[in-house]
Amino acid sequence: MKLTALNVACALWLGGFAACSSHSTESSSDDGGTSNGGRTSGSSGASGSSIGSASGSTSGSTSSASSGSSSSGSSSGSTSASSSGSDAGGTSGSSSGSTAGQGFLGPQNPTCVPMNGKPQDPGPAPQTDFSTQPTYIPNNVIIITLDDVPGTNAPAGTPDVTGADLRFLKSQGMHIDFFINTMDYQGPNADIVQMQSDGHFLGNHTIHHYHLGQRDPQDTIMACKSDPTCVDREVGGNEVAIDNILNKTKPHLTRFRAPFGEPYKPADGINSPSDLATVSGIVAKYAVAFGWNFDSLDSNGMRWNAVSLLQNVETTIGATPGSSSWGIMLAHGVYPWTRDMLPMLIPWLKKNGYVLGNLEDVSCWLWGKHTWEIIPNRSQN
Ligand SMILES: [Zn+2]
Repeated sequence: MKLTALNVACALWLGGFAACSSHSTESSSDDGGTSNGGRTSGSSGASGSSIGSASGSTSGSTSSASSGSSSSGSSSGSTSASSSGSDAGGTSGSSSGSTAGQGFLGPQNPTCVPMNGKPQDPGPAPQTDFSTQPTYIPNNVIIITLDDVPGTNAPAGTPDVTGADLRFLKSQGMHIDFFINTMDYQGPNADIVQMQSDGHFLGNHTIHHYHLGQRDPQDTIMACKSDPTCVDREVGGNEVAIDNILNKTKPHLTRFRAPFGEPYKPADGINSPSDLATVSGIVAKYAVAFGWNFDSLDSNGMRWNAVSLLQNVETTIGATPGSSSWGIMLAHGVYPWTRDMLPMLIPWLKKNGYVLGNLEDVSCWLWGKHTWEIIPNRSQN
């Protein structure tokens, strides 16, 4: 309980908050998970494996469709997705010229086609970087990730923010990536159940939101300090806890986001390459680690209002695809200003020619495989 309280302090803006935000932006980030859609479709993809199967496995597209999204994610999408991959053409700077061809709600890469037909090697500890203009994501794709869920108390007394987020997303037929802490921000477990039943993508953000590597000495939040037992307990234990909440229906979570982005974020001045090697090696037993390409800054310590936060995000993205940042957006499911900003951001994105994607789309563009195909002995989720 004590530990939990410390973490809550981060979200509560108490003393711990400064430490929280001091570690750059990821103060409370979480990372999403695969939706049901992924599950359904995944089976086909999983069997076929990556690249080659991409063109063939139309079924992949069904997945999200089955999850309830009305969107264009349906089968028709699969064709365009492949085209989007090819359009993606020049990996280099020319990713600015590439656009995903699915409907607004996605999925944007249902047949799991790598960008330019050239999948990268995921290596032993697969992870995405923090580049602001990722060459492995078409420049009109925005992937909304909400971390630290389920959460209720930032600031203290705020009613179930994640539950409100879920109601809005459902009203739009949207499926996004969530990164769950089971003992941190004190939201109701019912929200996790709802995430799954609504077809969202569930991801692992550790049990307690500890620093997995080292921490700033002034930070009040606990740290594993790269102790393998602690890291394994935080990652593997969270997976077990979520599976228990979901009545043993989700044994594996193959998308992971590190609390604070540590020690994956380069040059944070606190963690060393050996911290990254230790932590990423343990995480790789369970999941692919996803960073983010731009930060909504909803957790940077300001008490935003929704309009000012929206303006900040719109400036970061830019009104024309490719003009500024794109790809994976870091945001959090515990803040009322984020809750109130999303209903304004979605129509703005649509109006300006953006489409919504998921982290499984990214895994496919980058590596030509779903996350559960990359990590050994993992089931689709
Ligand atoms: Zn977090």
